[in-house]
Amino acid sequence: MMAQYLEIKEAHADALLFYRLGDFYEMFFQDAVNAAEALDIALTKRGKHNGEDIPMCGVPVHAAEGYLLSLIRKGFRVAVCEQMESPAEAKKRGSKSVVKRDVVRLVTPGTLTEDALLEARRHNFLAAYAEVRDEAALAWADISTGAFHVMPLTSVRLSPELARLAPSELIVADGAEQALHEPASDLGISLTPIGRASFDSTAAEKRICALFHVGALDAFGNFGRAEVSAMGALIDYLEITQKGKLPLLQTPQTESGDRVVQIDAATRRNLELTRSLSGGRPGSLLSVVDRTVTPGGARLLEQRLSSPSRTLDVIHARLDAVSLATEDSLIAQDIRDALRKTPDLDRALSRLSLERGGPRDLTAIRNGLTQAEAIAELGSKHDLPVLLATAVQNLVGFDDLLTLLDEALVAEPPLLMRDGGFIAPGFDSELDEARTLRDEGRSVIAGFQQKYATDTGITSLKIKHNNVLGYFIETTATHAQKMLSQPFSETYIHRQTTANQVRFTTVELSEIETRILNAGNLALEIEKRLYQRLTGEILDHAARLNQAARGLAELDLTTALGDLARAENWCRPKVDTSRSFDIQGGRHPVVEHALRQQGGDAFVANDCDLSADTGAAIWLLTGPNMAGKSTFLRQNALIALLAQMGSFVPAEHAHVGVVSQLFSRVGASDDLARGRSTFMVEMVETAAILNQADDRALVILDEIGRGTATYDGLSIAWATLEHLHASNQCRALFATHYHELTALAGKLEGVENATVTVKEWEGEVIFLHEVHKGAADRSYGVQVAQLAGLPASVVDRARVVLDQLEKTEREGGKQKALIDDLPLFSAAPPPPPAPKASPVTGILDEVLPDELSPREALDLIYKLKEAA
Ligand code: ADP
Repeated sequence: MMAQYLEIKEAHADALLFYRLGDFYEMFFQDAVNAAEALDIALTKRGKHNGEDIPMCGVPVHAAEGYLLSLIRKGFRVAVCEQMESPAEAKKRGSKSVVKRDVVRLVTPGTLTEDALLEARRHNFLAAYAEVRDEAALAWADISTGAFHVMPLTSVRLSPELARLAPSELIVADGAEQALHEPASDLGISLTPIGRASFDSTAAEKRICALFHVGALDAFGNFGRAEVSAMGALIDYLEITQKGKLPLLQTPQTESGDRVVQIDAATRRNLELTRSLSGGRPGSLLSVVDRTVTPGGARLLEQRLSSPSRTLDVIHARLDAVSLATEDSLIAQDIRDALRKTPDLDRALSRLSLERGGPRDLTAIRNGLTQAEAIAELGSKHDLPVLLATAVQNLVGFDDLLTLLDEALVAEPPLLMRDGGFIAPGFDSELDEARTLRDEGRSVIAGFQQKYATDTGITSLKIKHNNVLGYFIETTATHAQKMLSQPFSETYIHRQTTANQVRFTTVELSEIETRILNAGNLALEIEKRLYQRLTGEILDHAARLNQAARGLAELDLTTALGDLARAENWCRPKVDTSRSFDIQGGRHPVVEHALRQQGGDAFVANDCDLSADTGAAIWLLTGPNMAGKSTFLRQNALIALLAQMGSFVPAEHAHVGVVSQLFSRVGASDDLARGRSTFMVEMVETAAILNQADDRALVILDEIGRGTATYDGLSIAWATLEHLHASNQCRALFATHYHELTALAGKLEGVENATVTVKEWEGEVIFLHEVHKGAADRSYGVQVAQLAGLPASVVDRARVVLDQLEKTEREGGKQKALIDDLPLFSAAPPPPPAPKASPVTGILDEVLPDELSPREALDLIYKLKEAA
C-alpha cells in the first residue's frame, strides 16, 4: 500500500494527498505534519519507512468538506484519491492485491463546486493570464456557474482587471509568477504556475474547439493568439484538476476594456466598493445596496458594481428596467416573492455536469423552472422594457423537461443518491414493483417476529438486522436455553452468542432476507439509472438553462434596485455623452446608512457641479478635519459609479456625462505591510493618475501631499492641481488643508473653491457638513484637537502659538524670528510659587523650644495666633 501511496504522491507533489482508506482520508509524511498543524488535528504514526516512523493523520470522509475548506483557505491544494474498487474486488484479483486507487480530483481555490465550499452570493473565478509576443490576455471562468470570459489587455491593465474580477486563483506560465507575486498577494489571489505547454496557442485552439464541439474558433468571435492561449491554458488546467471531467462552460464571451469604467485596485479599495477597508463585506457599498433575494442576483450585482458600463445603450436599458420596478411595485413584489423560492440553477447544473450532483440538484432544477414559469406568467401581463422582456423570454420553453421532472421526482428528496427514495411512485413500473417487494418483505419480517414469539412463548424475542449477520432472531441468554433444546433447535439455527444475547436464524428468515435484499438493491439500481437519465435530459438543456438563470438574476437585480430606489428615495440619473457632472442633494449611501443606524444626526445632502463644458470642472475643497470632505468626495464618485452600473442614485437630481475612468486617492495612508514609505505610495499612486487620466476621467484626490514636509507637500499639491487642470482636463474634486492653494482658484479658469462649513460657538466647533462655494477661512485644527480630548494645557498652548504665528504672518515677519520669540518648553506647567515669608515664620525662627518655660510657651501661642 505504501508503494502505491508513494507513487500517487509523486505525481501530485504540489498538493496534499487525501488518500482514501475505508471511511477516512489519510495523509502521510510531511503532508500529515502540515495538515495536522493547519487543521489542528492529532498527528499519529503508522508503520515505518526506511527505518523511520511514518507520521499520519486523517479526516473522516463524511466530514471531509469542512476540512477541505480550511485547507483551501489556508492556501493548500488538495488531491483527493479514492478507492476505485471494493476490497472484495481487489481480493478477487489475488489475495495480496492492494485496492486500486486514483486521484479523482484536485481541489484548488478556483475549482470549487460544492455549496459548502462556496460563498453563494459571490462568483468564484479561476483566471488565466497569457502573454504571446507583445499581446496579452486574461481568461476567466466560474466553474460553479459555467460563466466563461476572455479579454485582451496590455500588461499594465492586468492588475486593475484582477482587482475588478477578484478571482480566487490565477494560472500563469511557469516562470511568469515572479512578477505577479505582489499584485496577487495584495488581492488575496492564489497564484498557480503551470507548464508552458498548457499555454501553447495551437494546442489551445484544438482544446477549445473540442470542448465546444466546433470545427473552428471563428464561431465565437475573432480571437488574438494571447486570448486563445489564455483560454486554452484555463481549459487544460480544468482537465488536470477535474481529471478529465470537464465542467459545462458557456461559450466564451469577449469583454473589452473600453466598455467598462476603468477603476484600479487602489480606487476600489479606497471607495470600499465590495469590501470595506477592514476587509469584510459589512461597511462596503455592496452591503448597503444589496437587496437581491437570490444568489444569482447577488452575484450579478457584485459584477455590475465592479464593472460599471460606459455604453449608453446598456446603461439606459438598465435604467428603464429599474424605472419600471420602482413605478410598478406590485408586479415587482410578486416577482420578488417568486424569486425567493428559486434555487441556484447555475450551481446545481454545474454539479450535475461534473458528476458531483445529487437528487437535490435535480429538484433544484425542477423548482427553479417552476418558479421561472410563474414569473414569466406574471411578466406576460405587462408591457416590459426590452431588458426585462428578454429576461422573461429566456424563462420559458422548458415544458417537456419540467413535466418530466415533475412526474419523476418526489417533493423533498434525500441528500444522497445512494439512499434512494427520490423518484416518485408511479413514474417507473419496474421501480414500483421492486419497492413493493422490498416493503412487503419488511412487513413479512414483522409478522415472523410475532409468529416466533408465539411459537416459543418468548415474548421478548426480537428480529434485528446488522451488516454482518443480516436479519437474525435475538433473545436473552436465559431464554436461549429453550431455543437451543428440542423441539425448537430444529427450526432455530444458532448463529452467534454475545455477552448477554444469543442470536438465531431460520431457513424462512434467510429466504425472505435474500428477497428483500434483492428487491432493495434492484430498486436502488433502477433509481440510479433514472437519475442518470434525468441528469442527461437536464444537461441537454444546459445552455438554455444557463440563460434562464441569467434571466432570473437580471429580474432579481432589477427589482432589488427598484426596491432600494423607492425605499431610499433615490433618483433616476440622466446619463449622456456630455461632460456634465451635476449632482443636487447628493448623499453618501454608506455614511447615511451608518448615521441612521446610530440614530444620531441625519445626513446632510450636498450639491456638486463639475460640468466641464459649462462651468468649473475642478473643485478645490477646503475645510477642517472631520467636516465631511472625504465623505463628499467619495459620495460623488459613488454616484457616478451607481449611475453607470444602471442604478438609481442617492440624490435629488443627477446628470452624469459618461465617466471613462475613476480614480480615488487618499494622501499618506499607512502601507507598512508592503514595506514602502507612505509618502512613496502616495506619490506612485498620484503619478498613475496624472499619467493615465483622460478628459472623461473623474478624479478624487484627498489630502495629496500630506505625507511630507509642509512646503514640499504644498508644492506637490499645487503642481498636481495645475497638471489635472491643464493636461488631464478631467473632472476632479481635490480636498486639501493647504489654504494657500485656494489662491489658485482665482488664477485658473475652471477651478473653483468650495468649503465645508463649520460654526464656532463658545470656543468650540460645530460641524454643519454643508458644502458651499468659497474658501474656508481657517482650519479649526485647534478646536478639533480639543474635541478629540487633547489635554487643556496643550490646547491652550497651541492657541498661543497659533495667534503668534498668524500675527507674525499678517505683519510679514519671519517665522524664524517668531520661533525664537517663543520660549522653549513653556507649555510645561509653571513650577509652584515659592511660599511667601509669613510673620509666623519670623517669630518661630527665633524660638528655642528647650529653653521655654510652660508660661512662656503659652504666651508664644497667643503671640503666634495674633500674628497669623
Ligand atoms: P474629513 O474628510 O473632512 O476629515 P469626513 O468626511 O471623514 O471628514 O467626515 C467625518 C464624519 O462626519 C463622518 O464620519 C460622518 O459621520 C460625518 N459626516 C460627514 N459628512 C456628513 C454629512 N454630509 N452629513 C452628516 N454627517 C456627515
